[in-house]
Amino acid sequence: MLDTYQVGDVRITRIHEYSGPTHDPKFLLPDMTPEQLAAQRDWMAPDHWVPAMNKLVLTVQLWLVHAGDQIIVVDTGVGNGKPREGMARMNRLNTLVLEWLEAAGAPADKVTHVVNTHLHMDHVGWNTRWLDNRWTPTFPNARYYLPKDDFLFCMEGKNHEQPLDVFGAAIEDSVKPLADQAMIELISPGDEIAGCMVVEDASGHSPGQVAFRVHSRGEQALFCGDVFHNPMQIVYPDINSGYCIWADKARQTRRAMLEDLAQSGALLLPVHFGQPYAGYVRREQGGYQFEAAGSQS
Ligand SMILES: [Zn+2]
Repeated sequence: MLDTYQVGDVRITRIHEYSGPTHDPKFLLPDMTPEQLAAQRDWMAPDHWVPAMNKLVLTVQLWLVHAGDQIIVVDTGVGNGKPREGMARMNRLNTLVLEWLEAAGAPADKVTHVVNTHLHMDHVGWNTRWLDNRWTPTFPNARYYLPKDDFLFCMEGKNHEQPLDVFGAAIEDSVKPLADQAMIELISPGDEIAGCMVVEDASGHSPGQVAFRVHSRGEQALFCGDVFHNPMQIVYPDINSGYCIWADKARQTRRAMLEDLAQSGALLLPVHFGQPYAGYVRREQGGYQFEAAGSQS
């Protein structure tokens, strides 16, 4: 539940919002064939795929980073009480994420930075919460770091022109209230955050998606956002999710990231994988394999 990983001097904790077999493979990974899935059954089932239902497991989690005096939340899940009609698994959640953050050493008022890999609704939800009859910043003393190109895309209303608007109402209830209170910084690849995190280009899944790399004492971790929704995309890098906006760019980003992960040995910290939720990419027989990570507590 509150799994932790030590990366050099940096402590990383996983905060679990929810997980379950919720997604039809044809919907989540439309590029994937049933034959490809069946060929990976030995390691995919049951943590990432439940064959009896033919549903892919999808988790929503937040990552918490302790680096010196800095307390950073990476991606903020779906959030509590957010009206998401038409998506039963997300609609008006009521979870204890704030209590779990506190248990992991991050009371809301002590968080110094919130960083979003992209602005899709399942990555920005806890940016705000319902308080005093309005959507209020959940972390009142934090700066919020949002990818500039996603922010501009949505401010120009281009999200509403897409066949599937994955930003949705979250822009109104989880992003704009922060902008209204001048709590945001717009980030681009190359920027550094909190002295421990470098912003990298991960566009394709969304126009401005970024990844965050942590380096400490020769070790690395990479918060990849939705470059990977499911570990099948490690074995078959050309499989996009149904939510990827720019198909070719998403594949190009995924291939470059896989090469980097295999080379660097960085701990991969995605948002949506099933148990154990994080891992490594290993090169094998001309391709790549996913190696699940064991947490340290
Ligand atoms: Zn997502």
